[in-house]
Amino acid sequence: MVKASILQVFNHSFKPSVIKTQQIIVKGLVQGVGFRPFVYRLATKFSLTGWVQNTNENVRILVSGEPSDIRHFLISLKEEAPLASMIEDIIAKETEPEVFTAFTIIHSHDVSDEITEISPDIAVCSECMEDIEKEGNRLHYAFVNCTHCGPRFTIIQDLPYDRAKTTMHSFIMCPDCRKEYESISDRRFHAQPIACARCGPHYELFVKGEKISGAMDVIVRRVSQCMEKGGIILIKGLGGMHLACDAFDEAAVGKLRDIKKRDGKPFAVMFRDIETLKQYAAVNKTEEQSLLSWQRPIVLLAMKTCEDQGVAKNINAGLNLIGIMLPYMPVHYLLFQQLKTHAIVLTSGNFSSEPILIENREAIAQFSTYADAIVLHNRDIFNRTDDSVVRVMAGKERILRRSRGYVPTPVRTTLNTDGILAFGAELTNCFCIGKGQKAFLSQHIGDLMGLETTLFYEQTISQFLKLFRVTPSLLVVDLHPEYISTKTAQNFRDLPLVSVQHHHAHIASCMAEHHLDEKVIGVAFDGTGYGDDGNIWGSEFLVCDLNDYTRITHFEYIPLPGGDLAAEEPWRMAVSYLYKVFGKDFINLKLSFLKEIEPEKTELLIRMIDRKINCPLTSGAGRLFDAVAALLGLCQVASFPAEGPMRLESLVKKNCTESYKFDADQTICFNATIGGIVEDLSRGVDVTVIASKFHNTIISVIFDSVISLREKEGINKVVLSGGVFQNKYLLEGTITLLNENHFEVYTHSAVPTNDGGIALGQLAIAAKRRNLKCV
Ligand SMILES: [Zn+2]
Ligand SMILES: [Zn+2]
Repeated sequence: MVKASILQVFNHSFKPSVIKTQQIIVKGLVQGVGFRPFVYRLATKFSLTGWVQNTNENVRILVSGEPSDIRHFLISLKEEAPLASMIEDIIAKETEPEVFTAFTIIHSHDVSDEITEISPDIAVCSECMEDIEKEGNRLHYAFVNCTHCGPRFTIIQDLPYDRAKTTMHSFIMCPDCRKEYESISDRRFHAQPIACARCGPHYELFVKGEKISGAMDVIVRRVSQCMEKGGIILIKGLGGMHLACDAFDEAAVGKLRDIKKRDGKPFAVMFRDIETLKQYAAVNKTEEQSLLSWQRPIVLLAMKTCEDQGVAKNINAGLNLIGIMLPYMPVHYLLFQQLKTHAIVLTSGNFSSEPILIENREAIAQFSTYADAIVLHNRDIFNRTDDSVVRVMAGKERILRRSRGYVPTPVRTTLNTDGILAFGAELTNCFCIGKGQKAFLSQHIGDLMGLETTLFYEQTISQFLKLFRVTPSLLVVDLHPEYISTKTAQNFRDLPLVSVQHHHAHIASCMAEHHLDEKVIGVAFDGTGYGDDGNIWGSEFLVCDLNDYTRITHFEYIPLPGGDLAAEEPWRMAVSYLYKVFGKDFINLKLSFLKEIEPEKTELLIRMIDRKINCPLTSGAGRLFDAVAALLGLCQVASFPAEGPMRLESLVKKNCTESYKFDADQTICFNATIGGIVEDLSRGVDVTVIASKFHNTIISVIFDSVISLREKEGINKVVLSGGVFQNKYLLEGTITLLNENHFEVYTHSAVPTNDGGIALGQLAIAAKRRNLKCV
């Protein structure tokens, strides 16, 4: 930093002006997102001198110049900030006038500070798309990116973030790219993945295992023609491969289902643009913001019900709630320029239960016989990431699957989490590592059951530890002794290990998200989680802080006939509840759903319950939803997780205010509720009314319980967590009722409410206990 005297400047200028100096602190997510080059460009634009520097938690700037220039600089700082940055606060204060000869970027002395922040991948920006759409030049090319957009996390192999440490290292910049890269005034200044048609990666097309040569435009045209004819395409994306087909072609979607060898798990759909999408789905303002955000997540939307014009019914087993996204890679836009269809299915390229494919060789080996065309590129994917999923509820974006666009942005906590490694749960696993007060939650890993996913899990843990320079000193696991995550931790390294109860971790996760560190009322509703009495919990009313919890009440235990199988076969839960309420007489109730089940199967189930064979006890709220879904004939055997509860939710009518009776004593008993539902069924009451009444009942259960807890404990803060709160009607109804009664309600938004958020809670609990010297 070169200082010049104030006198010198005055001597050299014709018109003496008042030079002022301001010290500016920018707080928020401003590191690792091209913020300093941005500040540099801005300062130069407004003829300011001074410097910009990263510090531990923020960016510090010192600018000298004319007051009006400084004012404009401050306005632009906020309004034109890089997309992936998130400014929480700008604090500017005048200091002693100081004059510099230039504006400089000061490199931080403490390198460890610089390396902690990595930008997530950013959807291609409109300026780059303009470049791409102009034909006949080197930027008419599908891998164009700039300081504000393009791949980041998915290609980063190590830090500091520099091209040499990304999967772009093998591509040597051409002179034109080099010029843009080095020119401070260029949009592509220091854009590490910079590339053009001459020097960057390329797409390649394979049909039946054979490589078809051709330029980008030729490949795009062939692929779109193939899709128009009902073909299935495997296409390499940012964080992994996708399988794609025309979303309006029922036969093609069916074929895609067969290829994936699975179940009816919903497929995500990409629409060509927001205007087209609005013809098919009701999109509110917040949903539109999410859809168009640079993260470009999949947004769960209710499709308009139109008989013949909608997307293929087998995309989501006839449910009208569908995961929708908009184009985010140049190739998506280029494809839609050719395609006549308005939407394509874009689902993860893998076979059921395996992680999303990233390797070209594997893609060809596994999919050559199934896919009608395979489109690959030669830019390697280093960090596998799926598309993220969000749902807008109670006016806010709620992340349900946190991956591309959101990871590895840290969650800021108020605790010292340094060196803690939390292994997460079993299903929809994410793990979490602590550095300083930051919590780095991994991308969505998936269900830790298959070997492939477990390998991905172990690999990603090592990659995160290396990338963020964390040496673990404390490990945290779920209380469940049989979880693969628990066993992985036990075999990891010989380090102190903390076990955390599943639902306590759920509540702590939401507390950490909101920086709560006090006693709260926690309501954790999900399908399953190991309880400290050895039973399966999942409807827990806790009074807890980050250190400990007391379980105040829960849904009455009920046998789970067949264990895990009962979660996949909701009819088992219906029988279990009916048997509890009516005894063997329920068979005479002539319930129509029972006609679909062989009487021998029902009898066998009753014998299992009587003899307590493979009938663990559960209080899981998800299982009650399953039972009611089966009772209403909506779902006997689930073709994908939570199908029963989703079908039940889809029937709810907002204008119904009725509910069923229940009993709350030591525990919450639903005999009267089940009785009421059976009575309504026998009277021929419409299932939409029953579904609505049932949801209202659960909202009342929550309300009654927390009211009585507030009276007893004097606590007014209620924290809601667990997968059941992905249910929009339930979440919104609960929030409204609690707010009306002056509770302070805390819910998830940046961190998944499902088990994908558990690791953050584990981390927070371990940090608190370590702080209290309990571990
Ligand atoms: Zn761009
Ligand atoms: Zn180039």
